[in-house]
Amino acid sequence: LAQLFRPLDMLGWVYRTIRQGLIDMEAMFGIVDTPEEVRDLEGAPALHVEAGHVRFEDVRFGYDPDREILKGIDLEVKPGTMVAVVGPSGAGKSTLSRLLFRFYEPTAGRILIDGQDIRRVTQASLRQALGIVPQDSVLFNDTIGYNIGYGRDGAGQDEIEGAAKGAAIHDFIASLPQGYAAQVGERGLKLSGGEKQRVAIARTLLKNPPILIFDEATSALDSRTEAAIQETLRSVAARRTSIVIAHRLSTVIDADQIVVLNEGRVAERGTHAELLRRNGLYAEMWTRQQTEREDEEAEAAE
Ligand code: ADP
Ligand code: MG
Repeated sequence: LAQLFRPLDMLGWVYRTIRQGLIDMEAMFGIVDTPEEVRDLEGAPALHVEAGHVRFEDVRFGYDPDREILKGIDLEVKPGTMVAVVGPSGAGKSTLSRLLFRFYEPTAGRILIDGQDIRRVTQASLRQALGIVPQDSVLFNDTIGYNIGYGRDGAGQDEIEGAAKGAAIHDFIASLPQGYAAQVGERGLKLSGGEKQRVAIARTLLKNPPILIFDEATSALDSRTEAAIQETLRSVAARRTSIVIAHRLSTVIDADQIVVLNEGRVAERGTHAELLRRNGLYAEMWTRQQTEREDEEAEAAE
């Protein structure tokens, strides 16, 4: 009887693998409709990442031809530095990361990594060079160990634990009765937004890409979780080229450059101090968030 069941198990496994792969891709990019297929050029070479220099040159893009979302974006992330992208919801921040992954192609302008147009290299090599911690991480209905190990094929248990430590989630996992073998997902353990995000960070640490994109969760995190994630982010981003899409400005105070996106255009750019002095959109967002924070703290103290 056991033998009879094996092929079925196998089929189930294949089905789950494909399904999960698709769900993961879509979830990673927050995509609802599957976009048209982006194809490699014939004989396209692999991307060669040396320093990890990212540049958007006058990039324009719209999901629909009659509605332009990005209206000429110039953006440079120097090797090993952190650029934060902030701005109101719907400004086009997550769209920038989808274009960098070449999930869609710009309608005009280009995106270069170490001088190579990402349109001219293989997608496999491009995606190998990039690590994304998405806004809402989706976990597979599998063990928590599997969910981290997925970051790199053939990773050993010690490497998985190392990554979990780096993402400040190891202690939590170790405290579970089944540890790394604990099931997560629909039928298993429900993780909080912050915990899921740390699993995604661990996955990315295991992958160890030269370029990192972090799409900060929009859902409200309590200030302790926020501080923990911020700390993790700082160590993960150190010495790596990183793009941080931030909703909470408190996470980007020490970014090398902050780019304020508004209605598909760069409205302002500079360091936190420079932008505050400018007294524009950023300063306004900062003041508003500070007030909200004080209100929250006052409520919490009551
Ligand atoms: P942000 O991350 O800054 O909140 P997004 O980049 O997600 O903004 O979205 C920018 C705009 O593009 C929004 O108006 C959004 O509705 C639209 N948009 C996002 N994804 C799609 C899609 N798959 N199809 C059509 N429009 C989309
Ligand atoms: Mg977004």
